[in-house]
Amino acid sequence: MVKRSAIILFLLFSGSLWAQRPALTRADTLRGSITPERTWWNLTYYHLQVRLHPGDSTLSGSTAVHYQITSPWQIMQIDLQPPLQVLKVEQEGQELPFRQEGNAYFITLKKEQKAGQREVLTVYYSGKPRVARKPPWDGGLTWGRDSTGKHFIATSCQGLGASAWWPCKDHMYDEPDSMLISVTAPDNLMDVSNGRLRKVTSNPDGTRTFDWFVANPINNYGVNMNVANYVHWNETYAGEKGPLSLDFYVLPQHEAAARKQFKQVPQMLKAFEHWFGPYPFYEDGYKLVEVPYLGMEHQSSVTYGNGFRNGYLGKDLSGTGWGLKWDFIIVHESGHEWFANNITYQDIADMWVHESFTSYSESLFVEYHYGKKAAAQYTIGCRTLIRNDRPIIGPYGVNQSGSGDMYSKGHNMLHTIRQIVDNDAQWRQILRGLNKTFYHQTVTGSQIEAYLSQQSGRNLQKVFDQYLRDTRIPALEYRLEKNQLQYRWADCVPEFNMPVKVKLDQSKSYQLLQPKTEWQSLKVNNLVELRADPDFYIMVRKID
Ligand SMILES: [Zn+2]
Repeated sequence: MVKRSAIILFLLFSGSLWAQRPALTRADTLRGSITPERTWWNLTYYHLQVRLHPGDSTLSGSTAVHYQITSPWQIMQIDLQPPLQVLKVEQEGQELPFRQEGNAYFITLKKEQKAGQREVLTVYYSGKPRVARKPPWDGGLTWGRDSTGKHFIATSCQGLGASAWWPCKDHMYDEPDSMLISVTAPDNLMDVSNGRLRKVTSNPDGTRTFDWFVANPINNYGVNMNVANYVHWNETYAGEKGPLSLDFYVLPQHEAAARKQFKQVPQMLKAFEHWFGPYPFYEDGYKLVEVPYLGMEHQSSVTYGNGFRNGYLGKDLSGTGWGLKWDFIIVHESGHEWFANNITYQDIADMWVHESFTSYSESLFVEYHYGKKAAAQYTIGCRTLIRNDRPIIGPYGVNQSGSGDMYSKGHNMLHTIRQIVDNDAQWRQILRGLNKTFYHQTVTGSQIEAYLSQQSGRNLQKVFDQYLRDTRIPALEYRLEKNQLQYRWADCVPEFNMPVKVKLDQSKSYQLLQPKTEWQSLKVNNLVELRADPDFYIMVRKID
């Protein structure tokens, strides 16, 4: 998901994904936790069939849920949000009883569910889906029109959940291994969804059905449909794993501008394959699809609405000028193919796994094309967006994310850790290793923390506790008495022990210091002021 710019944040903060929500409810637990009615079956495949009725903004269709039983149980939870309604549930031609509780449906299976067996059930549904208020942050269906008056329809649903527009197992820990998405729309429009287009069927009722197949695991909120009067062109990129297909879908009136702007896609792929390893979905290809909202990281169907100009809606969020050299949405949303679609959080409380790395990927893109210094300037410039309002990690098990600081502060945390590692080749291998070790997996934030500690050869636990679980910026406090420097960490978690680079002699380069929370001292020569390397996201404070 794209971060909100400070102005937009300030204006719209009240209703967003990051706003502090009222007291938690049972609905939050049913949505956010791995309930007994979810645990016993492992999702293997979805076939989603959905028919759009733009005339009255309704949908109808079904989800065939293929699963393998891991332990015997007879009640399954499937999620679908009102005003959409489940009409019927079937297994092997038999209708199954179900009970609704808010967004959750509890289906009683008739057939004995034996461990190890593979089964299918189909959920039929229809109704008027929630209309997106501020897509993609406050999602649902966008029933738009393009400048020629033609329908311009799209879905976006991170946080809110995929169950806002189709019945599914709406928790992030379990993904299907592959999926077929069949969208039926009026025949003057085209649907673009995830993966590869397998078939287009013209139906006798003046509609067409588009079958899109995804050959890789896909997270719920990444599944999308985009329906409009699209024009299309494609290219092939010579990637790390061989030829990669690039497909572009935009409105005809924007084709010329798009062909120019989307030339940045190979530049993005070059930089990200360098830093993170091969694009994670060669089988499904890479796509950019124009939509009536800013943009979103839908897997192998990245959506775009940045107006075919550089920056974030033409602005540089870092204030350094580097952010105007490239298109924010192409770079940020594509970075999510690695961190969000390849490596996916199990609980939205750990959304930093998506946004901190992807916000940081912007800086790595700058570094690849404009150099290390430019990238550091960009990263430091983004500190103006940090609010330190709440911890970055949210509460677990209730579908609630933490602070919007998961973007710029998480980004600066990773940049700071790089300084601690102090070896660029090793750092690059760590980033590539993440995408290999957790390839196509759902993870917990703790797994990522442990991996970074293990691969860097340093216990970074206190660093993560400080930046992800606390809102204070660690302060390096110091005192100077004659040629004696006293220093310690303050405004920090207990036993905070992050190493930091400082200048102990103005004429020399930075040296690594290992402060603790107790005062330590060091002999120095004529030091007037202690300066820390600005690449560390910390405060320095002189105590008289
Ligand atoms: Zn994002």
